[in-house]
Amino acid sequence: MKFPICGFDAKNSVLCPQCEGRVNDGTLTQADVDASIALASIAKTTNEIDGFTLHSCKEFDGNYVLYLAKNDIQAIRQSRTMYKRLQEQFKGKIWLVEAGETDRRFIEDLFFPTRILSVNSVWTPDEVRKTKAVVSGKWTPRFPIDTKKVVFIVKNARNLDIEIEFEDKR
Ligand SMILES: [Zn+2]
Repeated sequence: MKFPICGFDAKNSVLCPQCEGRVNDGTLTQADVDASIALASIAKTTNEIDGFTLHSCKEFDGNYVLYLAKNDIQAIRQSRTMYKRLQEQFKGKIWLVEAGETDRRFIEDLFFPTRILSVNSVWTPDEVRKTKAVVSGKWTPRFPIDTKKVVFIVKNARNLDIEIEFEDKR
């Protein structure tokens, strides 16, 4: 597996002077370190994960956003066991997103498996530019994704103000 810290550090739950320096100067975050160690420990017993690339991890108020390669995300989405094993390693909810993606893809990943119909820029009556995402279907109390958390993550990760609307408003 590839990690934001060295493979040796991840596997041994330590930080070499170089990686420690990168944490201190802010190039790496504590979430990068924690996620690398967590994934390395699962990789020891889960062969599929061993080929993965973790680009980075960002933590926003207990939400762990894992930036992975596209193929890795697809593999995790196809395996409930792998997803559970991954989630168990974190204190808060994990969100899987593709590294280096567009705003739209980022929002789509946070809403997976719900489909996003459109993502558009809109102007609010008081002249503030917002991004409106329209989610397919309608909201029910059983809707599995906390939309408030999505708004919060998108704001913090991409500095984007989004408004979420459901296709069927009734
Ligand atoms: Zn290192």
